[in-house]
Amino acid sequence: MAYVTLDLTASRRRVLTGAATLSLAALLLGGVAGPAMAAPAKSSQKSVDYQTHPKGGHGCNSCKDFVPQSSCKTVESPIQASGWCNKYAHS
Ligand code: SF4
Repeated sequence: MAYVTLDLTASRRRVLTGAATLSLAALLLGGVAGPAMAAPAKSSQKSVDYQTHPKGGHGCNSCKDFVPQSSCKTVESPIQASGWCNKYAHS
């Protein structure tokens, strides 16, 4: 009976040690991989044909990626609310 108790204690120790090791590994990988997992770089204004005036009645101020007052989720800032680019998507 005592043998079984010792065996369970050893198993529990192995499980806890394994969990601690996994937690440490996740923490270390998170620290190392964190910057690499950052949001992708925004497109340059030139690469998306950004212009400071609307096109076909569409402008940044009605695009889903527009972030008031002068930013965009996908294109490098600054942009103008009246601007437009070829990634335009109506909000
Ligand atoms: S039209 Fe282009 S630059 Fe303007 S908010 Fe949309 S994605 Fe950004």
